[in-house]
Amino acid sequence: MPFSNLGLCKPILQAIEDLGYTAPTPIQSEAIPIIISGKDLIATAQTGTGKTAAFVLPILQVFNKDRLLRGKRIRAVILTPTRELAVQVAANVAQYSKHLKLSSMAVYGGIDTEPQKQQLIEGIDILVATPGRLLDLAHQRALYFDELEVLVLDEADRMVDMGFGAEINKIIERLPEARQNLMFSATLSEEVLDLADNFSDGAMARPAVELFISPKTITAPNINQWLITTDKDKKSALLSHLIKHQEWDQALIFIEKKHGAAKLVDQLAKRSIVADAIHGDKSQASREKILADFKSGKLKYLVATGVAARGIDIGNLSRVVNYDLPFKPEEYIHRIGRTGRAGETGEAISFVAWGDFKNLCAIESRLNHIINRKEIDGFTVRKVVPVSILNFVRKGQPPQQRALSAVKPRASSNTNAVATENGPHIRKNKHIWG
Ligand code: AMP
Repeated sequence: MPFSNLGLCKPILQAIEDLGYTAPTPIQSEAIPIIISGKDLIATAQTGTGKTAAFVLPILQVFNKDRLLRGKRIRAVILTPTRELAVQVAANVAQYSKHLKLSSMAVYGGIDTEPQKQQLIEGIDILVATPGRLLDLAHQRALYFDELEVLVLDEADRMVDMGFGAEINKIIERLPEARQNLMFSATLSEEVLDLADNFSDGAMARPAVELFISPKTITAPNINQWLITTDKDKKSALLSHLIKHQEWDQALIFIEKKHGAAKLVDQLAKRSIVADAIHGDKSQASREKILADFKSGKLKYLVATGVAARGIDIGNLSRVVNYDLPFKPEEYIHRIGRTGRAGETGEAISFVAWGDFKNLCAIESRLNHIINRKEIDGFTVRKVVPVSILNFVRKGQPPQQRALSAVKPRASSNTNAVATENGPHIRKNKHIWG
């Protein structure tokens, strides 16, 4: 289905064309008409599926009517877990709305509130915000929610993981009940479903449509995943070897700890490889500068801790490296989803040490396939990593986290699951919730 069949007006279609999008992604074809119709939506979709446009485009369509905005009022708030994602989403809103007369901005912590307060004085149509800063601005009476029409929770599972659940609930309490609720999450854990319950309770039990975009979307064949088993103390030598011998043009390298990130940058420098790191301890200004350099290609190798890297969106990122394997399979899926986006090809490489065996089992069980192993001359491991057991379940792991297809609606939910099938990536679910 072309974009022109989705009920979007000409200026929006023009903006999409300017960006070179030729056809909607599955989440876009499904979600856009539902959101335009005013229904609530809960969608499982990860970064890289085009989810941002899936909620921004219909909001723009609905808001594209003359409406006098009162001072300090906002019409839509998009909550994101990190400042980087807030900046990225706001940049997307600006791109998609460039032919419309709608205002938008991002507010997030780590920088002075004054300029943000100044910008809010006239009122803003679409505000992208991290939860803490939004509450802070509301407490300071820099903005009011009485005219809010739409609430979007983007990457809801990450917000829950990062401990924002209580702040989100506080925000929800302040919002008008008659509003549209949209939630996007890579996974539907018990906590995310609780959040969904909370937000639909507040809106007088509006039935929410549920879309399941299967994780297959991101493990598409255009992401070439492979791993190398390695001893822990050989990782930096192995990385330098790969960068040099495989002539990597670019790599986003995920590492567990921030001090490890700084150390790795030094180790690479000793082998004449220029890299930089972003992590929570760096100032906002320096994080933004490093990110801009990485996006422009001035910086080729970026080392990032998982938290700092959330929300990084680089159009044609060719390679991600799991220098440290993440603990959660969802994190692995998020990370590799940063490459091979929107039809581009990408490569996702993981370094796996003997101690990572259980994590590897969990990841491969979640993917439902074994990741290709490669051996590199001169890097034979001392401690061999066995081949995974594909039906691995971690002790105490709730069923929802084993596989998306295992997600079961809860009896307490007041939402209606709607069957959707759009190619092989959308799971059909005819169960009626509630
Ligand atoms: P997202 O999942 O929202 O983070 O989007 C992933 C990337 O895909 C972004 O760089 C978008 O600009 C791009 N994108 C979104 N929708 C489309 C589309 N329909 N066609 C091509 N690229 C797209």
